[in-house]
Amino acid sequence: MFNETQYRPTRAVINTLAIERNAKHLISYLPKETKLIAVVKSDGYGHGVAQAASAALRAGADMLAVATPDEAMTIRKTQPTTDILVLGFSPVSFAAVAAKHRIILTVTSEDWVKQVHAQQPFDNKCRIHVKIDSGMGRIGVRTEEELTRLVKSIQQSDLSIDGVFTHFARADEENREPTQRQFERFMRLVSCLPEKPRLIHASNSAGILLFPEYALDAVRFGIGLYGIPPSHIVAKQLPFKLERALTIETELTYVKQMAAGEEISYGGTYKAAEGEWIGTLPVGYADGLRRSLKGQEVLIDGKRVPIVGTICMDQCMIRLPRAYPEGEKVILIGKQGDEEIMIEEWSERLNTIPYEVAVTISTRIPRVYT
Ligand SMILES: *Cc1c(COP(=O)(O)O)cnc(C)c1O
Repeated sequence: MFNETQYRPTRAVINTLAIERNAKHLISYLPKETKLIAVVKSDGYGHGVAQAASAALRAGADMLAVATPDEAMTIRKTQPTTDILVLGFSPVSFAAVAAKHRIILTVTSEDWVKQVHAQQPFDNKCRIHVKIDSGMGRIGVRTEEELTRLVKSIQQSDLSIDGVFTHFARADEENREPTQRQFERFMRLVSCLPEKPRLIHASNSAGILLFPEYALDAVRFGIGLYGIPPSHIVAKQLPFKLERALTIETELTYVKQMAAGEEISYGGTYKAAEGEWIGTLPVGYADGLRRSLKGQEVLIDGKRVPIVGTICMDQCMIRLPRAYPEGEKVILIGKQGDEEIMIEEWSERLNTIPYEVAVTISTRIPRVYT
């Protein structure tokens, strides 16, 4: 689906086949009865929610998960029948809409259930998943008493329990013990339920890749779907190959040869050497190429070259080994020849994780799909 109305050479090229293959590989690795919930929150981790969702569903994903009610409603427009789970908070006012559009909500509080119940009765029952906090410390019930009270109030309402789940805080670490403790605590609480819900699930990408024994009825596969390992610890122990879906590319828009001592960009922080070739790229911090990525390398002609001087809002400069024609292709993230710049190179420089880089690639960069 190439968008021909895009004039800007800076673009994120998304390989939807890679997403499809990652999902397929996971499915063949999962126990036969375990369902795949494809996590497509935050615009499919920056890859485009509609395309990520359809790639995962083509591969055989059973269900989609998002973070917010609005994300669920956006997907409903292109996916009329697929089960969609909202992992985060939904306001009471959304419950009736969710019931109508068959969107599954996460429930954590008795009070919320009572407020929903106080509304008009719904045409169809609203399906929900109960969230248990087994050690993440974010949302969810933490004790047997809380869980029992919550389930009782749900049973007296227009809500029906479709699932119960928890979320791992440390499954991407070397130390397996915190995750083992979380899993045991989760299973202890699950055993208090009056009847088994359809889906009991716990694992995120790190969980499923490093703890296949915790697969249960379903797994929630997010970052791995896009071919990015959740951490370098997980990257070293992958049970199957992940294929990266994201490339960010642009091209040279201006090329010049410098005299000794001439300065580049705001603040004059870079001074050229005699005869040095400098290229300009039409990409800057408004695109997600953060100013602190100064010095980061890009690929041109299969070679690594550095960004020099301060990164501007819409442009930046690179040092070229020789003259190149304007229009020459440049890769910011992805492969060219034998070289590859992975998203982790950016996240390490930015002192963050690849998740944050992926979701902060600005919407000004058009996504094109192959
Ligand atoms: C984001 C999220 C996931 C997916 O996590 P990954 O590490 O990207 O696989 C799973 N479950 C919940 C509750 C989440 O918020």
